[in-house]
Amino acid sequence: MTLSETYWNLEHSYAELPDRFFSHMALNPVPSPQIVLVNKRLADSLRLDVEKLQDVKRVKEFAGNEVPDGGLPIAQAYAGHQFGYFTMLGDGRAVLLGEHVTPDGKRVDVQLKGAGRTLYSRDGDGRATLGPMLREYVISEAMHGLGIPTTRSLAVVTTGERVFREKWLPGAILTRIASSHLRVGTFQYAANWGSKEELQALADYAIRRHDPDIAEDEARYLTFLENVMKRQVDLIVKWQLVGFIHGVMNTDNMTISGETIDYGPCAFMDTFDPETVFSSIDRQGRYAYRNQPPIAGWNLARFAEALLPLIHENQERAIELAEKKLNAFPQLFEEKWLNGMRAKLGLFNEEKEDEKLAKELLGMMHHYGADYTNTFRALTLEAQGKEEMFTSEAFTNWYERWQARRKRQQASAEEANERMRKHNPAIIPRNLYVEEALEKAVEHGDYRVLNRLLDVLADPYAYSEKQKAYAVVPQSNGSYRTFCGT
Ligand code: AMP
Ligand code: MG
Ligand code: MG
Repeated sequence: MTLSETYWNLEHSYAELPDRFFSHMALNPVPSPQIVLVNKRLADSLRLDVEKLQDVKRVKEFAGNEVPDGGLPIAQAYAGHQFGYFTMLGDGRAVLLGEHVTPDGKRVDVQLKGAGRTLYSRDGDGRATLGPMLREYVISEAMHGLGIPTTRSLAVVTTGERVFREKWLPGAILTRIASSHLRVGTFQYAANWGSKEELQALADYAIRRHDPDIAEDEARYLTFLENVMKRQVDLIVKWQLVGFIHGVMNTDNMTISGETIDYGPCAFMDTFDPETVFSSIDRQGRYAYRNQPPIAGWNLARFAEALLPLIHENQERAIELAEKKLNAFPQLFEEKWLNGMRAKLGLFNEEKEDEKLAKELLGMMHHYGADYTNTFRALTLEAQGKEEMFTSEAFTNWYERWQARRKRQQASAEEANERMRKHNPAIIPRNLYVEEALEKAVEHGDYRVLNRLLDVLADPYAYSEKQKAYAVVPQSNGSYRTFCGT
């Protein structure tokens, strides 16, 4: 391999968009950067030399003290509906260094989160603190391990600077890798403040990047809307199936690529309860577990609104066409979700009563306050314990019907069990274990617990011996609250 193949290979296709979409940035150096985490697996997949990732020059690059070879720092402009209210936003504390293109042609954004003030910082300091950046690293990598599309975390550096968040905390910068940072909010920004030509330039750019197959089609903007919708359906179904609660599904936090982005107040549900909300700022429960699908639909409607001028020159016709596409959302979601539930129950074929079977199980979990992940884990391992739900008459009855249902398919019991193992994680990043690991790292500079956690979360479907300890539901998790981690 030549040097250029093991080092950054940065391009800047986004910066070719009209000026409105970004601003050039100078980097804001920090006093004494130290690398605390490097993602070797991700580096390998991007064909970045891991040894070189740790060298002095690279640490300076991860800290925003030096622009990497071929880098062009910019902040991206976008808007968004935050808890229902529309506002101008933009990268207030992130800079895009460019798009790394791997030897096999994969293009990913390389962004420094916490790199200092930008044109879009408003009152913010442009900085990030260590705890939340480590948390984003852990949860995003756990999501990847679960097979859920997500932005990834390549590295975390501490800055040597203190950052004020009600008290002084250690500063940090996360290197975020994403298949792009185009958001629903980027389109809302273009639709509100840009010309039609600028909106079209953005849409064509996004299509070339994420839907190249339709780039030449006449009706491409409508198909693009549909494709983004389908990617979001796939994503939100996966969230629901593992009990992931994003916590801040504003339109600026919904990607065009279909990747999960913005790990602020997110968390995994323990006890099954559709009303679960973790975020301390979400007092109305707008982004509660059960609201995630309809909110995704609401966000997609905002996306469709932004695209209307491109869909048809007659606005009424454009609305009609867009609505027809969006109306498919609920059914598409239900179908995908049900297929996901079938997989979790070891079912291959389809029967009419499957939905009832799945929903009855969830109903029992809710009634008995059962742990969501561990209920499926127990069924997978055929190891139902002495918990109230498992010993109830309702469950015994359900279990018999489920067993009978499993026999009404071609697949053998082994094949069904295999399917369950692939779709029911043995572990999730449980809040208390994540908090413990973060505390050791942030308070004591001890990363051993955190690295152990990252290691077991890399393959949550392994059902390995060392995962057992992490499957135990920690006590005192009742009123867990997440804060919009900054
Ligand atoms: P979020 O709620 O994480 O999606 O962020 C909403 C907006 O606030 C985005 O425009 C961020 O760039 C911006 N923001 C968040 N934290 C800071 C900060 N410390 N300094 C400047 N801008 C910030
Ligand atoms: Mg955000
Ligand atoms: Mg955020």
